Amino acid sequence: MRSDWLTQGPAIARFEAAVAARCGARYAVAVCNATAALHIACLAMGIKPGDRVWTSPNTFVASANCARYCGAVIDFVDIDPDTLNLSVDKLAKKLAEAERAGRLPQLLIPVHFAGQSCDMANIRQLADRYGFRLLEDASHAIGGSYRGLPVGACSFSDAAVFSFHPVKIITTGEGGMVVTNDEKLYRQLLLLRSHGITRDPDLMEGENEGAWYYQQVALGFNYRMTDMQAALGESQMIRLDGFVARRRELVARYQKAFADAPIQLQSVIESTDPAWHLFIIQTLRPEQRRPLFNALRAAGIGVNVHYIPVHTQPDFGRLGFRRGDFPYAEDYYERAISLPLYAGLSDEDQDYVIEQVLKGLRG
Ligand SMILES: *Cc1c(COP(=O)(O)O)cnc(C)c1O
Repeated sequence: MRSDWLTQGPAIARFEAAVAARCGARYAVAVCNATAALHIACLAMGIKPGDRVWTSPNTFVASANCARYCGAVIDFVDIDPDTLNLSVDKLAKKLAEAERAGRLPQLLIPVHFAGQSCDMANIRQLADRYGFRLLEDASHAIGGSYRGLPVGACSFSDAAVFSFHPVKIITTGEGGMVVTNDEKLYRQLLLLRSHGITRDPDLMEGENEGAWYYQQVALGFNYRMTDMQAALGESQMIRLDGFVARRRELVARYQKAFADAPIQLQSVIESTDPAWHLFIIQTLRPEQRRPLFNALRAAGIGVNVHYIPVHTQPDFGRLGFRRGDFPYAEDYYERAISLPLYAGLSDEDQDYVIEQVLKGLRG
């Protein structure tokens, strides 16, 4: 707060360097939120009106809206009912059909739901075969790993996006970041973050008219993060591993407590070590969800539901999507409850949550 900088200053570069180093990615671009990060990542990858972008229906609406901001046509790949991430089998089938119809996507946005990475190696194979780009929505997953590599290493993707909204694993109040190993993409992201304006003579068209001169060379936005937020982000990065370790401990306690309970838990695939943004239980039958949810709220527990399938939102209905289009995401939604999970949750408070869930299940 005592520094000379308010908007983008030296803390931005330090925060970007800290995230890039932690993820093992070459470049990082901080922006005002993850929605903006998704938007400029799509644009930097050349997504334009009429292009096709696919994502998971089991996500926050921003994973799909970023494509719509670019004028692209959004579509979804249904989820795997065990991992709750988009199903690679269903993706393969949908791609084969799309190829026959001449309607292949230009970009896929896999979402690392609840902090567990999608099976990126297999998704990469499909991307290579069918020629689309990959943008990881890693809003839930900073601090997690896949095949021993940190999420955000971008070993299997063109870029990944993190969110620093207060509900996420680390926060800057509002904030987001794109990480990538692709220098061309990085340069484009820097331009799009700040009005498409450059002071770099190498990027200018025609002459540099003097020391005062700048050029707008693309249609960009004001998506900058403030230096104050970046300073908060830097201090949060120091605590990231501690936060994730505590989240993993809490999830292990939940998993143990519910091992024999009549509920379904998200399965964890061996190649991942999730960061655990969310811990979700599913009732066996849809009609059990509402009474359990209401009983937990009445017991003073801040339960929630993640996510209402994006394609069932009215604004997506106007694009032609209907209930029934992605039945696994819909079936999951009807049975899902997110339990409290945050680094500051005490064992005692968690034990109370567990006790109330088990009590609620007994009816
Ligand atoms: C939170 C979230 C976003 C949007 O993040 P903001 O920083 O709030 O814009 C995008 N995708 C997913 C999966 C999220 O959970």
